[in-house]
Amino acid sequence: MTDQHFDTMQVHAGTPPDPATGARQTPIYQTTAFVFRDADHAAALFNLQEVGYIYSRLTNPTVAALQNRVAALEGGAGAVACSSGHAAQIMALFPLMEPGRNVVASTRLYGGTVQQFTNTIRKFGWSCKFVDFDDLDALAAAIDDDTRAIFCESIANPGGYITDLPAVAGVADKAGLPLIVDNTSATPYLCRPIEHGATLVIHSTTKYLTGNGTVTGGVIVDSGKFDWSASGKFPSLSEPEPAYHGLKFHEALGPMAFTFHGIAVGLRDLGMTMNPQGAHYTLLGIETLSLRMERHVANAIKVANWLEKDDRIGRVTYAGLPSSPYYDRVAKVCPNGAGALFTFQLKAGYEGCKKLIDSLELFSHVANLGDARSLVIHSASTTHRQLTEEQQRAAGADPDVVRVSIGIEDADDIIADLDQALAKASA
Ligand SMILES: *Cc1c(COP(=O)(O)O)cnc(C)c1O
Repeated sequence: MTDQHFDTMQVHAGTPPDPATGARQTPIYQTTAFVFRDADHAAALFNLQEVGYIYSRLTNPTVAALQNRVAALEGGAGAVACSSGHAAQIMALFPLMEPGRNVVASTRLYGGTVQQFTNTIRKFGWSCKFVDFDDLDALAAAIDDDTRAIFCESIANPGGYITDLPAVAGVADKAGLPLIVDNTSATPYLCRPIEHGATLVIHSTTKYLTGNGTVTGGVIVDSGKFDWSASGKFPSLSEPEPAYHGLKFHEALGPMAFTFHGIAVGLRDLGMTMNPQGAHYTLLGIETLSLRMERHVANAIKVANWLEKDDRIGRVTYAGLPSSPYYDRVAKVCPNGAGALFTFQLKAGYEGCKKLIDSLELFSHVANLGDARSLVIHSASTTHRQLTEEQQRAAGADPDVVRVSIGIEDADDIIADLDQALAKASA
């Protein structure tokens, strides 16, 4: 399967005709539990000696189809789907962390992630150190004996900055730590982090993978390449796991250790499960992923170029513009394009941003990205509101910038809407 091209895999991977009925589209298996063949079958399933379905908090055929498809598109060994992108972040860290351990993360992240990593994970006894990932020495210096993961976004919120994944993976590798890459804004069509050295790739499937703003979901893809036993730092995977009758996941399951732990312990005990309806919408969305991403990127290039030439506008952060300091990384890290998410600065300042947002008609003013529709938000007063002004500036959510997620409409209509709203905002 993985030898096929992307456009073929996005339609076929993980979804052979339904074995029970021959249904060509993957059915929504709307069931909580699955009948065991007999007592031995039930025992084999619970022992992970046989792969099958027990209870939909753990696994479900519709959700499994999605897991297999995303794993194929990312080039991973396995994947675990869950209820949201934020759930995916907790689920990714859960097997790696213990009280007292930390994660080193980029300052340029989705605002909700900065919040989750700054405050909420402290309740588990975990902590996060934020560093500018363009400064590799600072990144290396932030790693200590308690660090268990390195975390960044491939195309980072809100400015659409491109992370130098091969360089960051090099630092993680030297420290013997897994690199977790949030690939939400890029999608595997634009960027395949595992090819650049990532250990785990996570997604908010809420965004481009579903692609139409219908359901929330998340997924964690494991490369299957990290040696969880080498350093002794990941006992949940390398040592007898007390939460699963002493099973040594890495020894027993090899490259599928992380995936099985995520299902057998993570979903079982944290319960952040994706529902089969949600998986169905996301499977439908992925069928057109490359087609949509091509249009998102083509529109973003047109709109960013137009904005950059307009004298009502200051800085435009789109990495697909030759003026961007990240332009050279596009070909290396995301060869199919720099995405469709970026910010621009208004010379009319904070008040101008508010006026612009209230004057846009085609753009929807929402806290979301990766919809088929063009979206706009003023990050500093919304998604990045709970952050300090210093954190906002470090993330690129300055008070006088707005963030856009360019949709798949006709680019001329997107530009016309911006033009009329800018006239009002700058008057
Ligand atoms: C939206 C988003 C998340 C959180 O995902 P939810 O599905 O909303 O929980 C995490 N990371 C990035 C980059 C996002 O855009």
